[in-house]
Amino acid sequence: QTIDQLRDVMPEVYEQFAAIAEKLEKHYNDMQDMEFTIEDGKLYMLQTRNGKRTAAAALKVAVDLVDEGMIDEKEAVCRVEPKQLDALLHPTFDAEALKKAAVVGKGLAASPGAACGRVVFTAEEAKEWAARGEKVVLVRLETSPEDIEGMQVAQGILTVRGGMTSHAAVVARGMGTCCVSGCGDIVVDYAAKQFTLGGKTYKEGDWISLDGSTGNIYGEAVATVPADPGSGYFGRLMGWADKYRQLGVYTNADTPRDAKQAVTFGAEGIGLVRTEHMFFEGDRIKAVREMIVAENTEERKKALAKLLPYQQGDFEGIYEVMGERPVVVRYLDPPLHEFLPSKPEDIAELAADMGITTERLNEVVAALHEVNPMMGFRGCRLAVAYPEIAEMQTTAVISAAINVTKKGQYTIKPEIMIPLTTDIKEMKYVKEIVVSTADKLIAESGIDLKYEVGTMIENPRAALLADEIAAEAEFFSFGTNDLTQLTFGFSRDDAGKFLGYYYDKKIYESDPFAHLDQNGVGKLVENGVKLGKSVQPEMHMGICGEHGGDPTSVEFCHKVGLSYVSCSPFRVPIARLAAAQAAIKNPR
Ligand code: PEP
Ligand code: MG
Repeated sequence: QTIDQLRDVMPEVYEQFAAIAEKLEKHYNDMQDMEFTIEDGKLYMLQTRNGKRTAAAALKVAVDLVDEGMIDEKEAVCRVEPKQLDALLHPTFDAEALKKAAVVGKGLAASPGAACGRVVFTAEEAKEWAARGEKVVLVRLETSPEDIEGMQVAQGILTVRGGMTSHAAVVARGMGTCCVSGCGDIVVDYAAKQFTLGGKTYKEGDWISLDGSTGNIYGEAVATVPADPGSGYFGRLMGWADKYRQLGVYTNADTPRDAKQAVTFGAEGIGLVRTEHMFFEGDRIKAVREMIVAENTEERKKALAKLLPYQQGDFEGIYEVMGERPVVVRYLDPPLHEFLPSKPEDIAELAADMGITTERLNEVVAALHEVNPMMGFRGCRLAVAYPEIAEMQTTAVISAAINVTKKGQYTIKPEIMIPLTTDIKEMKYVKEIVVSTADKLIAESGIDLKYEVGTMIENPRAALLADEIAAEAEFFSFGTNDLTQLTFGFSRDDAGKFLGYYYDKKIYESDPFAHLDQNGVGKLVENGVKLGKSVQPEMHMGICGEHGGDPTSVEFCHKVGLSYVSCSPFRVPIARLAAAQAAIKNPR
C-alpha cells in the first residue's frame, strides 16, 4: 500500500505522520528514510536516517533542496557522490533482470557501465559481427593498439590479464566502453574459440554480460538500460560545481570524436593527446612499420614523410574541435615492438605485404625484443635515438596550428609534451629539435605563432630533479601511471596478479593505479610541484595519469596546487564535481 492510502484509512494518524516527516526532513535538511509502526491507532516513529538514493535521485534531491531554500549551492554540490555520476553517463543493468542473473566470475572494474553481448575473440570478428548488427563482447588475453577498431564496436571488453592502467582499461575508459580486466580465472583457448570460467565453457556467439562498475561477469544476457544524464538537474548541479572549483578539468583524447565528446561533458582543454593511438588507423600503420624496419636515417625519414600528412590531419581535426582551448600533444611514447606482430604467421604475412623477407622482419622483431619494455626503449629515448621522429611530429603539430590559425577563426597555441624525461640534458636535446623545427616553419608561415614545450613528470628521477628540468620545460604534466609503476616497481600491466593478496592481508587498501598513493607517489608529485614552482612560480602544471578522474586523487591535486586534472572524456563530469568539493572543503 502506498502512504497516501493511510490518509483514507486513518486520517488523523496520517496528518500526524506527515507533520513529523516534514519536521525530520527540515531538521536533517535531507531526504529521510523513516520507519514507523501504528499500534491501536497510535503512531510510533522507530528510526530515521538520510535515505539512500540512486544517482538520478541524488541530483534531483540536491537541486530540489536548493530550490526549497533548505541548503545552498555549495552544500548541494557536496551532497552528490562524484563516482555516482558514472551511472548517469553509462548504460546500467535493468534492476529486475539483474536480480535474476548469476555472477560467474569477477575481474577489475576497469571501465564503468553495463554491457551485454555475444562472445568474440578477435578485433576482426568483433567488426564482422557488429557489421551484421550483432552486439558483441570482445574477450582477449589482453588488448593492444591493434585491437582498437574491434574495441570501438564492442559493447564491452573482457580481458584475462591487465590492471587498471593496462591498454584495455585506459582505451575503454577513453571510449566510454564497459571493461572488466584482469580476470585471471578465465582460461582462453583462442584456437577453439572458447573460454572457461567457473567450470563452464563459453563459445564464440554465446551471450555474456559485464558490469564495468563492479567487475562482475554474468554468463548470460542481462538486459541493459541506456545512459540518462537526467538533463536539467545534471546541468544545474554541474553548473554550480564549475562555479566553485579552482582546478581546471581537461581530458585525455586522441581523436576529434573523443575531443567533441569530452567538450560536451565540460572539458576545458586536452591535457594529453597520445599521438601513437592514431598510428593504427587505416593506412598509417604501414608507414609506421616502414619507419620501424628502416635500415638507416634516410629510409626512416622517407617513411616518416608518409606519416606526416596523417598526423597533421589528426591535429588539424583536434584543433578545429577544441578551438583556442589548450591542447597538449604528447610525442611518441610506447616501445616500437607494439606496432609489429609477434606470431610467426603474422610476421610472415606482414613481411610479404611489405615486400621484405621474413628473415629481415624476424631480425627487426628480435632486435626490438626487451625483457622489460616499459623500462626500455620508449618515451623520449626514441626521440634521442631517432630525432627525425620528433622533427616529423613537430612539423605535424606546428603546420596544423598554422593552417587552422590561417583560416582565421582561432589562434592556436600548441603545447608540445616530451614523455618520460629523466634528465635535463635529455630534455634540452629533444627540445632543441622541437624548437629549431618549429621556428623555421613559423618563420616561413609569416604568422606569429606561439607555442610551448613542456614535459611529463612520470619518472621518479624527473620528480626529484624537477627544479633542474623546470629550467627548460615550460609546463609539467604528472604522468602518474608511469610514476606509480616506476615508484612501486609494479608493472602496470601485471600488478593485478598479486595486488589481491595485499588487499586480503590488509597491506594495501586499494589499487595504487586507480587511487593515487598519496604517501609515496603523491610525495613525489608534491615535491615536483614545489621544485618546479621554485624556478617558475607561474608554471602551469597538471596531471594526465588515470588518477586525474579519480575523486580522492583529484582532491589531492587540488591540495598540492596543480592547475588542472586531465582524464578520460567520460570521467570529466566526475572530476568537475570532485574538484568543486575539494575547493569547497579546502579553498586555496
Ligand atoms: C602516464 O604515464 O601517467 C601517462 C599519462 O602516460 P601513458 O599512460 O600513456 O604512459
Ligand atoms: Mg606514461
